[in-house]
Amino acid sequence: MSDMIDMYRDMKLYRKAERVAFGIKCPCCALARPRAHPSILLPGQRCRVDGYRDPREQPSEDERNAAVNAFLAASGATPPPPAQLVSGRTRGAGDQQDRAK
Ligand SMILES: [Zn+2]
Repeated sequence: MSDMIDMYRDMKLYRKAERVAFGIKCPCCALARPRAHPSILLPGQRCRVDGYRDPREQPSEDERNAAVNAFLAASGATPPPPAQLVSGRTRGAGDQQDRAK
């Protein structure tokens, strides 16, 4: 079952890299609740707090992979092969919000 764990870890890394590369702070959150942490929105994602939808185009697969690899390189982790990154349901959980720590 360690494959599952690897996949899950890669997915988490992938989403983290995506957020670093493409995430923006929700402008509605910033206006409505300047003291609270705004939601981090990926391109096309809707803010769950106020319903604001990020108007940007989805980045291409190449852009995503480049962002993930850049993130992994910067964090010192070994990049998994790109095929592993794009397989699986990395977008399915996109509606979940990681709470700011
Ligand atoms: Zn918002």
